[in-house]
Amino acid sequence: MLTGDSLQRFLFEHAPIRGEIVHLDATWQAVLERRDYPSRVRDILGELMAASALLTSTIKFDGRLIMQVQGSGPINLLVVECTSDRAMRAVAQWKGEVPEAPLSELVGDGRLIVTIDTHNAKERYQAVVNVEGLSVAAAFENYFARSEQLETRLWLASDAHQAAGMLLQRMPDSLQTDDDAWQRAVHLGSTITRQELLALPVREIIHRLYHEEDIRLFSRMPVSFRCSCSRERVERVLRMLGQDEVRSILHEQGSVHVDCEFCGNGYTFDQIDAEQIFAPQPTIPAAPTRH
Ligand SMILES: [Zn+2]
Repeated sequence: MLTGDSLQRFLFEHAPIRGEIVHLDATWQAVLERRDYPSRVRDILGELMAASALLTSTIKFDGRLIMQVQGSGPINLLVVECTSDRAMRAVAQWKGEVPEAPLSELVGDGRLIVTIDTHNAKERYQAVVNVEGLSVAAAFENYFARSEQLETRLWLASDAHQAAGMLLQRMPDSLQTDDDAWQRAVHLGSTITRQELLALPVREIIHRLYHEEDIRLFSRMPVSFRCSCSRERVERVLRMLGQDEVRSILHEQGSVHVDCEFCGNGYTFDQIDAEQIFAPQPTIPAAPTRH
């Protein structure tokens, strides 16, 4: 049973605990149909995607959150982007056979890098932690403990059809009133199975775990696949590459072709396009473009 792409928040009415559950169906399929991943890489990428949606929704910002795992093992790169309105894209790179091994082993000397790019401000937030632990959930719990000093627990699951996740977070509570409530919520959360997390609708998960608590469930928020690549972005990359390098590619291949890693869209630049990229920028503002 597919539950649809959505993220839903919930609150414990009588304890400073918040939660979120995310389901990725079409969003996850859109990632999988663009590349054939070995099953272990696929499941890790799906879990990372679910975790990124959950993390994005715990932060107030306007822009995009980029989650990267860089490693030296069979899996050398995982990238997930999630905008503040939950448009997502993801890609993984690996080499050779990828065994059924714990995350920390698969990424070798891995680092988890969380970057937040905001639209309006020049602010760019970045946090880097070592990938510790056997799973994506453990790596994230470590990230939350170090970077946000908030007790957080995650449960993640992913297969060839869906990716899903649940987050519980203990909110700052000056009175430290209810330690038991947090312990109880985590204990009950741990009884969810991978299969239940993937297949059950949010309301049913909440009922199964927390029917003895007062839970306020907020309305569903959409999640979708959307690639943010564009011709302008590729032009910026070519400018960074430099005119000499671009000319040498043109000389060898006749044109410059760039495929987007995330969505497979191709961008081609012939000699005239390429010269324009490096033409001096006009000093007077350009006329407004018509759409
Ligand atoms: Zn793209």
